[in-house]
Amino acid sequence: MSEVKKMFVGGKWVEALDKGVREIINPCDGSVLSRVADGGAEDAKRAISIARETFDVGEWSGMPGPDRAKLLWAFADEMTTHVDELAKIETQNTGKALIESEYDVYDSAACFRYYAGLINKPGGQSYNVHDPAVHSISVREPIGVCGLISAWNFPMSLAAWKLAPALAAGNTLVFKPASLTPLSNLFMFELFEKVAFPAGVVNIVTGSGDAVGQTIAESLDVDKVAFTGSVSVGRKVMTAAASNIKGVTLELGGKSPNVIFADADFAAAVDYGLFGAFYNQGEVCTASTRLLVEEPIYDKYLAALVEKTKKIKIGNGLDKGVKMGPLISEAHMKTVLEYIEKGKAEGAKIACGGNRITKPGYEKGFFIEPTIFTETRPDMAIVQEEIFGPVLVLQKFNGEEEAVRLANDTIYGLAAAVFSNDISKAIRVVRQIRAGITWINTYGPVYNEAPWGGYKQSGLGRELGTYGLDDYTEVKQININTAVAPTGWFDAE
Ligand code: NAD
Repeated sequence: MSEVKKMFVGGKWVEALDKGVREIINPCDGSVLSRVADGGAEDAKRAISIARETFDVGEWSGMPGPDRAKLLWAFADEMTTHVDELAKIETQNTGKALIESEYDVYDSAACFRYYAGLINKPGGQSYNVHDPAVHSISVREPIGVCGLISAWNFPMSLAAWKLAPALAAGNTLVFKPASLTPLSNLFMFELFEKVAFPAGVVNIVTGSGDAVGQTIAESLDVDKVAFTGSVSVGRKVMTAAASNIKGVTLELGGKSPNVIFADADFAAAVDYGLFGAFYNQGEVCTASTRLLVEEPIYDKYLAALVEKTKKIKIGNGLDKGVKMGPLISEAHMKTVLEYIEKGKAEGAKIACGGNRITKPGYEKGFFIEPTIFTETRPDMAIVQEEIFGPVLVLQKFNGEEEAVRLANDTIYGLAAAVFSNDISKAIRVVRQIRAGITWINTYGPVYNEAPWGGYKQSGLGRELGTYGLDDYTEVKQININTAVAPTGWFDAE
């Protein structure tokens, strides 16, 4: 059996304090891929206390910006140098197609470079206050110790979106990867060690959410928690974070609409309908799991979509040409299959898919056919709830007003798209949809430069862009009096 992978804490590779070990499963065939330290609450506390001491010493936050930036750049270079190893690890652990994993490596490295570049950009303001002798300015300072908790669908990118701005801003951190997918993240921490980040600045604790995640969220020594995951756990994190009024950012789930008007470019709308729903097996927070199609083109659109969906190459993500892999775990596959059964029971019709794939070579993996439901109603669970798998529901509409009403009809507000060749109409509709990330005539691209996050129950705060950096800083007001004299306020009259 392979060696147990350790956690990087205080500049050293350590076992879990109770020597616990967790098996990491290859979703393609259910085999044990690796074994990692299974940290618990005490491991989280140890890492937090080291991150706290390291922050308070001030070496990292006090390091000249260009030197900090150099380390972030060096780390990004290491990631791209190791693209093949990282991508293979990611595909084996998550099931995603190798081409997606490679993209994620480059995207994560680009995120580090972007935030390295922001380090020496203007960050404060100055104010024209009513007292002309006073210079009033604000500066941005690091928050302190950041607790970063992540999900399993994009392990590298989700980590980069948190680690890069947290480090650029001068914070120290404790990172908790998703329990199912720590492997690429552990490799990233080997690279932090390689480029010689000062000991104690970056710490990773692998383990369960209940133990490690909850301890981070509750800790009085953590100043900010950034969380990516489900709404239900996000709620727990927000509650726990109230312990010391720590800063909170939450990147949560979605049930995002893609609105296809009859005047859209048909081929592009079909292609993106497929891409938005089934990229990464549909395990994407912003997946367009609700396709709203305007009545005049509905039948033609559905036929084209089904035809293309049946051609998706499903298999081991390491195999050439595969575009869809297995779901992340057996438990998750069962949840998705239960939703499919629920959809049928509620009266929706399956236009294609609907089953686990059990043909020879696939039977031990967690594969599900990409599934399309039609004849749905807005009140159905499959229309309202995040399934987080390759399950797409179609909804028919007529006109802008109905499109907006249906698009807004869930508790979520993460992403949305509109396809139309009438750009004025597309903008009008997008502006009425309550969602944080929107696209017109495209679906899915993520830009490190632009803010990412949701309205409604899809989250709180923003990652990426300058907003993403701001959320890792405190703002300090400094007022400098250039005409020093007593106030005389309490002098006798
Ligand atoms: P999850 O909520 O089950 O787990 C997320 C993380 O929280 C994991 O690391 C888990 O171990 C940890 N955790 C569990 N219990 C905890 C607790 N009590 N305290 C602190 N941490 C705890 O989510 P998941 O299944 O890993 O990921 C899927 C969800 O993530 C989906 O809802 C998806 O939409 C969402 N997601 C959102 C974004 C975004 O950017 N908005 C991106 C990716 C995924």
